[in-house]
Amino acid sequence: MAADEKGSTTTDQIYNQFASDNYAGICPEAWQAMAAANQGFVPSYGDDPWTERACGLIRDLFETDCQVFFVFNGTAANSLALASLCLSFHSVICHDLAHVETDECGAPEFFSNGTKILHIEGAGGKLELDAVERAITRRSDIHYPKPRVLSITQATEVGTIYTVDEIGAACDLAGRYGLRVQMDGARFANAVAALGKSPAEITWKAGVDVLCLGGAKNGMAVGEAVVFFKKELAAEFDYRCKQAGQLASKMRFLAAPWIGMLESGAWLRNAQHANRCAAMLERELLSIKGVSIMYPCQANSVFVQLPGRAAELLRGAGWHFYTFIGSGGARFMCSWQTTEGDVRSLVDAVKLAVAGA
Ligand SMILES: *Cc1c(COP(=O)(O)O)cnc(C)c1O
Repeated sequence: MAADEKGSTTTDQIYNQFASDNYAGICPEAWQAMAAANQGFVPSYGDDPWTERACGLIRDLFETDCQVFFVFNGTAANSLALASLCLSFHSVICHDLAHVETDECGAPEFFSNGTKILHIEGAGGKLELDAVERAITRRSDIHYPKPRVLSITQATEVGTIYTVDEIGAACDLAGRYGLRVQMDGARFANAVAALGKSPAEITWKAGVDVLCLGGAKNGMAVGEAVVFFKKELAAEFDYRCKQAGQLASKMRFLAAPWIGMLESGAWLRNAQHANRCAAMLERELLSIKGVSIMYPCQANSVFVQLPGRAAELLRGAGWHFYTFIGSGGARFMCSWQTTEGDVRSLVDAVKLAVAGA
């Protein structure tokens, strides 16, 4: 909105939101790392010391010699990763609510020249392995798009978490049928924070082949990393990135924030903080009569069913949040920037809205 539309700038006004973790700004660690990289001339297109250091830090984080690429956003990371694992007559199996199915405008199909997404149900936003197996084995004839990849979101779109064993079981199943496993980790840090396991344990050690590692929702301005745990799968991925318009010429500024986040530990602290805020919010909302929880809060989002006109009243009171999950259902998302004061304000506003509903 233009500043003069309201007669004042909106920047210093309180903006009441639990809409998304990408409403937050850039965390200090990422911001400082950008500033530190803003010196002198360095080679372009990733051939620079910042990019090398960021890749090294991601290898350290995952305790393995993986191949790392930096792209601008999660849609590019997911769709290019999936395209690199598939031919046009293959299919990708994912959950009904998976971002790759619902929120990428067909980019995975577009970049893979027609690979079909097969989406299946599963409670709590998680894939059920029986359903996955049925989708794989339903047909084996030439008329059916051959299942080639299993895509898992961690943390899921509804804020639930796969355990280490669940990831391992999904990867085992995929492996039995010759499928690769791609993980959408837009909120991977929140999953690490929730599980208290190492990044390696919940990815390649469990059988994940490629991870799309989220940066923006974790506190960076922009950028996600595509991490190939099997280097041979990354063959010519650099060309794919370039063709898709995802090769940053000033790559150091996509890479540097990762250095700031990883060296300082902010990536994990930010996620722990966001998860803690969500847990506090869940606790407080549950104590309000008429409000019920839709999914267990395991990461940084809280999904609740609000009674009557409560959601509408809350909106009317100036609060921003998503209701894509169905009528009466509201999603409240916490980020590194959310404060306990914000949580208390929202809880007070929900109490008022519920009382008036
Ligand atoms: C936000 C998000 C992404 C990335 O979205 P972009 O807007 O393309 O960066 C990917 N997967 C999930 C589950 C997300 O929530």
